[in-house]
Amino acid sequence: MNAYLHIPFCTSICNYCDFTSFAGQESKIVAYVDALCSEIEGSSLEGPLQTVYFGGGTPSLLPPEKLEQILKTLEGKAGFNPSVEISMEANPETVDTERLKSYRDLGVNRLSFGAQAFQKEILKKMGRGHEWERVEQATQDARKAGFHNLNLDLMFGLAGQTLEMFQESVTKAASLKPEHLSLYALQVEEGTPLAKQVAEGLKLPSEDEVADEYAWAQTYLAREGFEQYEVSNFSKLRKTCLHNWNIWRGKDYWGFGVGAVGTVGGVRHSHGDDLMDYIRQVNQGGVILQNEFLSDGVRAMEKLMLGLRTQEGVSKAEVEQYAQAYHLSYLDKFNRFLKNGFLSLRDGQYRVTSKGYFVLNGLLEVLVV
Ligand code: SF4
Repeated sequence: MNAYLHIPFCTSICNYCDFTSFAGQESKIVAYVDALCSEIEGSSLEGPLQTVYFGGGTPSLLPPEKLEQILKTLEGKAGFNPSVEISMEANPETVDTERLKSYRDLGVNRLSFGAQAFQKEILKKMGRGHEWERVEQATQDARKAGFHNLNLDLMFGLAGQTLEMFQESVTKAASLKPEHLSLYALQVEEGTPLAKQVAEGLKLPSEDEVADEYAWAQTYLAREGFEQYEVSNFSKLRKTCLHNWNIWRGKDYWGFGVGAVGTVGGVRHSHGDDLMDYIRQVNQGGVILQNEFLSDGVRAMEKLMLGLRTQEGVSKAEVEQYAQAYHLSYLDKFNRFLKNGFLSLRDGQYRVTSKGYFVLNGLLEVLVV
């Protein structure tokens, strides 16, 4: 089993963010962690847990004793597999060696730093609260604290970011020798300050410029020994993120906390995104989960959509299962993309090629209806 824990606190809100996150609410951390632990205890979570993922928000705002409370609750409820992967997202400006050492001692064995970009002016425009020196420092601190599995998140397609600037960010990140890099294209989400700025005329790089950035990174990172195992994820030495990998392969996972989503036994559960409402409802023993039963057709479709994101791809049998569920003929479409070099077919598995990854959403729109 896999578990996702949502920690929704942030020191400030980035202009592009549409995650469930709250700034200036750190005084609620104690009450939130109590509620989170009550939710875990009252759930039907069964272990042992193979992966635990602290996402956010900014999980590295958790004082070590609060992290310990959550991990002890999980251990008491479900237990851990001896080789459990415990990942934590962290913002570079929130950590130092001492804090990271405490996290490591508590069992966290994978860190993911939100680095995003090298240039000060780009980070400022995004509303990020750090400068690159903090990324370098946090990486060094993590090594000193005993972490051997580090990820850096970077973004491209950002306002004011040229190809050269993105190249500088990727090469600086690679020089810090992380085991894993995640590259995310900026998405303009409705209702964010960024969406407002774009509506008011803020210029973003063109689709061609963004494509050039992505293609350059694929080539550069392959040369640096990184394997692209998913549309946005590159790892060295097979240090894939096991938690995400399990989810992309359709494994069950529990989501705990405000805004969290999970899927267990063909039922998708989700939480509302109001922080105080979540704490109140858990404390009152109220209903906090919305459940949705996933039909065989929906499950086959999701398997296809998730599988095509990864280098594992999807089997012909899985595609046929999906096509039967929706009474579709699929061969023509798949053959067209094979011919155009967006897909490959080897050993009975369809996989999206490097060229296909950049237009993945467009491919999925055609292949999966
Ligand atoms: S740090 Fe992450 S979760 Fe927090 S506001 Fe920025 S993008 Fe959102």
